[in-house]
Amino acid sequence: MDEPRPLDERGVTRRGSLLRLGGLAAGVVGAVGWAHERAEASGRSGSGPAAVAAGLVTCVLSPEQTEGPFFTENDRIRRDVRDGRPGVPLSLRAGVLDVSTCKPIPGALVDIWHCDAGGTYSGFAQEGTAGARFLRGIQRTDRNGVAIFRTIYPGWYPGRTVHIHVRVYVGGDIVHTGQLYFPDALTDAVFRRVPYSRRPARTTRNPSDALYRNGGSRSLLKLTRNVTGYAARITMGVQLR
Ligand code: FE
Repeated sequence: MDEPRPLDERGVTRRGSLLRLGGLAAGVVGAVGWAHERAEASGRSGSGPAAVAAGLVTCVLSPEQTEGPFFTENDRIRRDVRDGRPGVPLSLRAGVLDVSTCKPIPGALVDIWHCDAGGTYSGFAQEGTAGARFLRGIQRTDRNGVAIFRTIYPGWYPGRTVHIHVRVYVGGDIVHTGQLYFPDALTDAVFRRVPYSRRPARTTRNPSDALYRNGGSRSLLKLTRNVTGYAARITMGVQLR
């Protein structure tokens, strides 16, 4: 069943997204240029874009992407964000590191929010979910810079590939706003299971998603099976402001 979606994330935020993506492109070029200069200045070959390309360094800037229309300010600090929402269990380990030092950032706040198996976000009257807080929560990174959540594999809604929204705060500043993505083949497998299978086929996969195409592959989660569902990992390189 498709809920009517007066706020189509792609449609409503298209202008904002394009503006932001324009800014992102400039930001990424700036960051890479800066890293390159630094590597040259230090005379080291084990850092900088060449090392990133060679796979020697995995600390890269995570792409900034729009927070979309379903962000709210009042997410709760909690690890288990499910509130009984049905779906395939997902354990999410989100690491945060300082892209200028490649060191983990302890004490960062990681805020996630995503839709349920039916494609619905909590907390919005137009979704019929005003007052509900399911699938939203904040965790503080531990001394290894890792925040852990218990959630479910997200569903889909028209015009977007499957994603989890994320925002990272350090010392009260927003240092990153992004989206986390899933491998399409794995999503296909998950969506063959109840309750996802009760809905029609999704409209959008990673390659046809306007946001994913702008750097989304750098925010692709690494997933492995666990006893109840899946474990997902991502490390987000952020720039402190
Ligand atoms: Fe969304």
